[in-house]
Amino acid sequence: MLQRDTSFAPASRDAHERERLENLHPSEWRNPQPADRYNLVVIGAGPAGLAAAYAAAALGAKVALIERALLGGDCLNIGCVPSKTIVRTSRLYAEMRNAEHYGAQIAADIRVDFAALMQRMRRIRTRISRADSIDRLSAAGVDVFFGEARFIATDALTVDGARLHFRKAMIATGARPDTPSIPALSRLVF
Ligand SMILES: Cc1cc2nc3c(=O)[nH]c(=O)nc-3n(C[C@H](O)[C@H](O)[C@H](O)COP(=O)(O)OP(=O)(O)OC[C@H]3O[C@@H](n4cnc5c(N)ncnc54)[C@H](O)[C@@H]3O)c2cc1C
Repeated sequence: MLQRDTSFAPASRDAHERERLENLHPSEWRNPQPADRYNLVVIGAGPAGLAAAYAAAALGAKVALIERALLGGDCLNIGCVPSKTIVRTSRLYAEMRNAEHYGAQIAADIRVDFAALMQRMRRIRTRISRADSIDRLSAAGVDVFFGEARFIATDALTVDGARLHFRKAMIATGARPDTPSIPALSRLVF
């Protein structure tokens, strides 16, 4: 299973990574004082939770969004965005190697620069992170809480020591792949 880096220690990271983490889980963040009651509490700030929180806030609802790791969820941080930038560069290398097929000439020696590929990926991921950022959510009027959400009643949950009361709750905590019971398969899953 993919492991999410939850250390959030910006010191050793490059400028793109530092900006992304500040956008998606600011190091100095303090959770707000909860409202008396939220119209909607959304657990999980991946694509599903973000869209729901923005839409409800735009309709005038009092919304709380809870995330235990990074805003943007799998898609922005470890899924769609990083994989598609890597796929794009990989395709470019393949096309360069196949240039003659398209009636083009390129230098004979094509060497893959994996570090440059990853740097581009981090730059693009950071740029997109501005759209999912804490600043944008706050400007939309959404109360963002970082921490693990736990239900304690049908109309209440806790996060980071705070108690949030709500009329409706949406669970948008993503999914994990199911591993079929094929002998030895578990040794191949990571
Ligand atoms: C390598 C890879 C490539 C992909 N490429 C594509 C693609 O090209 N196109 C595409 O459409 N999809 C793609 N996907 C799938 C896509 O990432 C998911 O469909 C999408 O992220 C699901 O969004 P979500 O909001 O449902 O959940 P997630 O993105 O998983 O977000 C759920 C969030 O909930 C948080 N959370 C969980 N439990 C709690 C809790 N108790 N308290 C607080 N927070 C909690 C998690 O930390 C997480 O941030 C890809 C996935 C992977 C792994």
